[in-house]
Amino acid sequence: MNDIKKILTDNDLDRNADKWLDVIASVSADDVKRHLAGHPGQFTLERLCAFISPAAADHLEQMALIASDLTVQRFGKTIQLYAPLYVSNYCVNSCLYCGYNCTSKFDRTRLTIDQACDDAKIIADEGFRHILLVSGEDITKISPDYLYELAVKLRQTFSSVSIEIYPMETDQYQRCFAGGIDGITLYQETYNRDVYKKYHVAGPKSDYDYRLQTHDRAATAGMRRLGIGFLLGLADWRLETLALAAHGAYLMRKYWKSQISFSFPRLRPALGVCDDFDHLVSDSQMVQMMLALRLCFADAGLVLSTRESAALRDNLIKLCITRISAGSKTNPGGYSTDTQSTEQFSIDDSRNAHEVAQMIQQSGMEAVWKDWDANFTV
Ligand code: SF4
Repeated sequence: MNDIKKILTDNDLDRNADKWLDVIASVSADDVKRHLAGHPGQFTLERLCAFISPAAADHLEQMALIASDLTVQRFGKTIQLYAPLYVSNYCVNSCLYCGYNCTSKFDRTRLTIDQACDDAKIIADEGFRHILLVSGEDITKISPDYLYELAVKLRQTFSSVSIEIYPMETDQYQRCFAGGIDGITLYQETYNRDVYKKYHVAGPKSDYDYRLQTHDRAATAGMRRLGIGFLLGLADWRLETLALAAHGAYLMRKYWKSQISFSFPRLRPALGVCDDFDHLVSDSQMVQMMLALRLCFADAGLVLSTRESAALRDNLIKLCITRISAGSKTNPGGYSTDTQSTEQFSIDDSRNAHEVAQMIQQSGMEAVWKDWDANFTV
C-alpha cells in the first residue's frame, strides 16, 4: 500500500491545487442530491467534494438529518466525555499561531508526576475516566519515561489515557503503550506544504513528513486510538478537509484495529499571537465540514473541544459528534491550584463537567464517562 506521503502527493493534496478547487466549484445542486441519495458513510474524494462544496451549503439540513441518523446507528445516543490535563507548557517549536511557542516570554511550568496526579485526582473526582495528557513539545521536559510513570499511576483510576504531546519514534510509543497509554492525538496543523513551512519556521516541527507519518509509528506501537486534524484557519478549509479525509481513509485501511477520530481545532486567541489569519472558518463552514466527514466516514470519531462555544457544541452533539471535552483547563496545574500559568489558548465553553453532562442528558443523549472499550482492548 502507498504511504500517506505518496497518497497526498500523487493526488495533489499537499499543495494549493486549483484542480480540486475547480472540482469543488463545479459541483451542482443535482450532484449534491445524487450523493445524498447514495449509501451514507462511504468515502470517495468525489463524494466529499460534493458535500464540502458551496452548492452543498444549501443542503445542510438534509446533510444533518442523514449524519444524525448515521451517528446514532453506529455510536448509539452516546457522547463520550474526556478531560485534557496539561502537564507542561515548555516548547522548542516556533509555531506562529501558538502562545506556547519558544519565543514567547512567560514563566513556563512543568508538572512533577505528583503534581500531575493532583490535577488528575480532581478530574477523576468530577467523574471522568478518560484523560488526555497534553503538553508543549519538549522531550527534555516531558519524556517517554515520564509519560510511562504517570500513565501507570493514572491507569489505576482512568480506563483510558491518551496523549497529545509530540511526535515520537516507534520504540518511544511502545514505552508509553506499556505504561497504559492507548491513544494519540496529533494534528498536522496544515496539509499544505507551503503553508506549513510558513507557520513552522524552526524546531523539529518544521519537518512536515516526520509529523505526517507519526500515526503510522504510533499504530505500529499498538496505539488503538489515532486522532488527526488540522488547525482551522491556516489554509483553505475545503482543500484541508480533502487531505484530512485521505489521511483518515489511509489509516483506517492500514490500521483497522485502531479507531480513527477527526478533531476540529479552530484558531483561538493566544498570548502574543496575532489574529490576522487569511482562512478563518465560520461556524456554518465548520458544521458543513463535520457533516461532510460523517457522511463519508460512518465509523470515525468526531471530537469537539471547549475551544468552541456552548451553543455550537450543544447543537453539534445532536448531529455527528461522538466525543467532547468539558470543564477544561488549558494551563498546567490549572485544576488543582490557583496558579495563573499561561494557557495555550482561551476556551469558549467554560461550563463545568456536570453542566455539560446535564446538557447532554437534556438533549436526549447519554453522557459516557467511562470508556469500556479500552478495558477490552488493552
Ligand atoms: S502548537 Fe504545539 S508545538 Fe507549536 S508552539 Fe504550540 S505547543 Fe509548541
